[in-house]
Amino acid sequence: MELIRGAEELRRATESFRGDASAVGLIPTMGSLHEGHASLIRRAREEAERVVVSIFVNPAQFGPGEDLDTYPRDEGADLEVCRRLGVDAAWAPPAEEVYPPGVALPQPDPGPVGETFEGAARPGHLHGVLKVVHRLLDLTGPCRAYFGEKDAQQLFLVHRMVEEKGLPVTVVPCPTVREPDGLALSSRNARLGPEEREQAGCLFLALSEATALARAGEKNTAILIAAMAREIGATPLARLDYAAVVGEDTFEPVTSLDRPARAIVAARFPSARLIDNLRLPQAS
Ligand code: AMP
Repeated sequence: MELIRGAEELRRATESFRGDASAVGLIPTMGSLHEGHASLIRRAREEAERVVVSIFVNPAQFGPGEDLDTYPRDEGADLEVCRRLGVDAAWAPPAEEVYPPGVALPQPDPGPVGETFEGAARPGHLHGVLKVVHRLLDLTGPCRAYFGEKDAQQLFLVHRMVEEKGLPVTVVPCPTVREPDGLALSSRNARLGPEEREQAGCLFLALSEATALARAGEKNTAILIAAMAREIGATPLARLDYAAVVGEDTFEPVTSLDRPARAIVAARFPSARLIDNLRLPQAS
């Protein structure tokens, strides 16, 4: 496996991969790799001859007072995971390779969706995500890029950016990997104390209730939202941030389930803020 630090090195490496007619699969990550990341890497391994993983804790997507400095980092372990999974190149750049001083990189606009939900809870977060993903896609060139549904709003905005800018990239959404109690894997889960961890399943429980209501034919999203809010509200260590139902095609709230929609939730625990979502079934 090649370990790459420089931006131009990444450009050259991916060009040379494509030079021998290989499709390139790219998995952007912030490291601290877990089975969720591994599922994206495995999927890329199946679908592309050459697999590139980027590992970069992106300062642009953290707000003041957020956990940039304490975000879990373990490059040695991450590189080992990449090697074990047959990754061809890992790009683990210093910040100045991603954001060269004095260079004004494109700042794609997330638009109004960038101000809601994760964008409202974390101002500037989604701008920072699009900036780094755009930079990464520009350096990597034509590729298949793998993103987790776990971060549904991010996935929605990346997809839209790629379409609007006509980037030569196929965005591949990948299902959320969960613990046995339904908790979505996340690098931040490691921070949860035993009691928090026990209660963290409330997000998936809430989403499962919304799913059950939808499956039973309930179309009024206010009912689903109330059920989700009740479940999380009844969990002593959780503070509800939002519970909503959004259209798959707009990521805007919908009042009735007459088109494809997704239930989304966020909650703050004392040691970590957690998000999750599930695509809702359409009642038959
Ligand atoms: P992160 O390192 O948290 O920025 O995540 C890198 C990529 O892995 C993103 O596309 C995430 O959506 C995805 N990811 C994170 N957690 C999971 C999970 N539990 N299941 C599937 N994909 C995930």
